[in-house]
Amino acid sequence: MLSKTALEKLNIFSDEDLLHHYPFRYENLKDYQLGTIVSSKNIFTRSGKTVQKILIKTNAGIQEITYFNQPYLEKTLKTGVNISLAGNEYEVNGPFIHTGRLVPIYPETRGISSKALRRRIYNLLQTVRLQDWLPEKIKNKHKLLDLNSAIQQIHFPNNQAQIDAATKRLSFDELFLLQLEARERKSQWQEKKLSHQFKIDQEKILNLISSLPFPLTSGQNCCLKEILGDLAKDKPMNRLLQGEVGSGKTVIAALAIYVAYLNGYQSCLMAPTEILANQHFQTLKTVFANTGIKIGLITGSTKTVTGDIFVGTHALLFRKLDLTKLGLVVIDEQHRFGVKQRSRLLTGETTPHLLTMTATPIPRTVALTLYSDLDMSVLDEMPQGRSIVKTWVIPAEKRLDAYHWVASQIATHKTQAFIVCPLIEPSEKETMKDIKAVTQEFNQLKLIFNQLKLGLIHGRLKNKDKDHILEEFRKNKINILVATPVIEVGIDFPNATIMIIENAERFGLAQLHQLRGRVGRSEKNSYCLIFSQSQLSLKRLKYLETNYSGLKLAKMDLKLRGPGNLYGLKQHGFLQLKLASLMDIDLINQSRQAALDCQPLSWLLKKQLEKHKINLCLRNPNEKFLPAAKASAGQPLN
Ligand code: ADP
Ligand code: MG
Repeated sequence: MLSKTALEKLNIFSDEDLLHHYPFRYENLKDYQLGTIVSSKNIFTRSGKTVQKILIKTNAGIQEITYFNQPYLEKTLKTGVNISLAGNEYEVNGPFIHTGRLVPIYPETRGISSKALRRRIYNLLQTVRLQDWLPEKIKNKHKLLDLNSAIQQIHFPNNQAQIDAATKRLSFDELFLLQLEARERKSQWQEKKLSHQFKIDQEKILNLISSLPFPLTSGQNCCLKEILGDLAKDKPMNRLLQGEVGSGKTVIAALAIYVAYLNGYQSCLMAPTEILANQHFQTLKTVFANTGIKIGLITGSTKTVTGDIFVGTHALLFRKLDLTKLGLVVIDEQHRFGVKQRSRLLTGETTPHLLTMTATPIPRTVALTLYSDLDMSVLDEMPQGRSIVKTWVIPAEKRLDAYHWVASQIATHKTQAFIVCPLIEPSEKETMKDIKAVTQEFNQLKLIFNQLKLGLIHGRLKNKDKDHILEEFRKNKINILVATPVIEVGIDFPNATIMIIENAERFGLAQLHQLRGRVGRSEKNSYCLIFSQSQLSLKRLKYLETNYSGLKLAKMDLKLRGPGNLYGLKQHGFLQLKLASLMDIDLINQSRQAALDCQPLSWLLKKQLEKHKINLCLRNPNEKFLPAAKASAGQPLN
């Protein structure tokens, strides 16, 4: 019997879900023999074990098979019973489903075997027909199986060609629904209204730019142009600014904020951590030093409530702020926020312009699938004078040497280092266990680097303490900062030149690249030292020694670890992809075209899209549970 809770662990809540629980491979048991049992008996050996001897009559004559220590077999393998034999498998009394075919092997969980799933799915397929929601003309155009054949063939395929055809149809569905969702978001956004169309005062903007301590890079100029173009329109902007770590996104945001200010509008700049909000606050204060712009910092611990600009963490969403003239929302490291959180700032009658920023490189295939509703600006150029961060994967036996080297670098060049310890659970939030681990490491490191001053920082520290430590680090009163990856997002300490990463095997390459981007922010030579506890991951980590493009590394992550591990994409629909590959540019393009072709949506497609979204919420721990929606997600299991 399949228990309901065990099924739910496999994300199976309804019969329909069960049909969409696909095998991950097939065992070829086509070679089988049918027969009838002539006799079966248990023989007891002297050592107290049992042997089962079973005589079977097949076309080829009488055969004997022997099993060991399975005395209960006598009950099922009775004289006269029909049996099918294939490899080590047997089954009695047809219809035979576990032998004589390409046998599906399923992802299992405790209490649910592949065999039990197979039986249940087989039975379901005898009675249940799903409504095929994909329009005929799309199926014809892209040569796709109908839904029920695809489901039948993915579970009990006739041959490899049918597996391929079924996989194509079902993968197509997954990608297509994501595309539909993006299109829907896009058209919803296009209906939004702006309260006021901005004017762009070129001269003032140029003046502010020339007051910066550096000229903009040409990449920054391009992105700024695109953003100003959006801001001048009579529709709210919805743009994603994607740029490598350290490429200088903040100043672009500041310039957009300035445009809003010049038009008499307020802006919010939201960052995922207090450290980062603080840093942005400081940056904006410097950039706007001579403008008279009032900036409020809103974090868990501050209370300012008036201003032209509010910089803050999530606290922005929950504080009573006077935002009557909100004209621009900037969200930094946008993937750190849930979709719902982001939309909280956009609930008014009119919609402010929205600029989201990310340092997560997004492969083109992913952008096409997930973010096709957004306009994208890519900042692909680093400010001048940055050297690459020399990177080494350090074998365990060289650890002490490495520590010596780090100490001597710090002594001679008066530079600073980070040592980052990973989160223990693969989540984006710190747990108490993580804090314990980093604290323990800190105590050991203090013994090793006993000539230097070490600081410890993690997310559970009080803000006052965090600020204090960062301030000490900024003043170079702390030589080595030991940290959890909270420091990975956005912080900027140009004098730090060494990044040491522990347990690097727990991170994706793109994320490691982001961590590495914390150093190499000045003209001094910078280094990244990578330690791993896993031999297996060495080859993967070695890519970092020779690759310095976040985008390339993200593509490798996609290939090596799959989309579920693609850093920063956990919140999105990718957990939902069971069959589709984000490397399959062909199918992505086809599904994209299809999503365009079937606008406006038929009621059937609308229904399917709703179902898809509900499923996503049900299964995605990052989104709030929607109890009312649960019942309509599919036929309940009985
Ligand atoms: P990120 O894109 O990672 O958010 P930041 O905006 O934090 O990058 O910028 C990183 C550093 O580069 C900051 O110290 C910033 O002052 C500096 N910077 C930004 N633009 C330029 C530029 N055009 N030339 C030189 N330095 C720049
Ligand atoms: Mg940043």
